[in-house]
Amino acid sequence: MVKPSGSNKVDEVCVPMFLESRTGRPVIQMGNYRFNMWSGSRGPRARWICVKVHSGCPATLITLDNVIVKQKPHNH
Ligand SMILES: [Zn+2]
Repeated sequence: MVKPSGSNKVDEVCVPMFLESRTGRPVIQMGNYRFNMWSGSRGPRARWICVKVHSGCPATLITLDNVIVKQKPHNH
């Protein structure tokens, strides 16, 4: 048991959920954040962009075979 319990802090990495948007496009829901797949993504490696990108959020995810290998933090 490495996980500390009884902590109020929510600093654990949220589990990403791979979903589909209403338009059938792939999205990732992670905690309160949602990412759209970058339209240029191909193959097993995909880039995901925070839906708040138009509000200036620089957060992105890189996934490889649906596993997050890289992520940049949000500004909101
Ligand atoms: Zn964001």
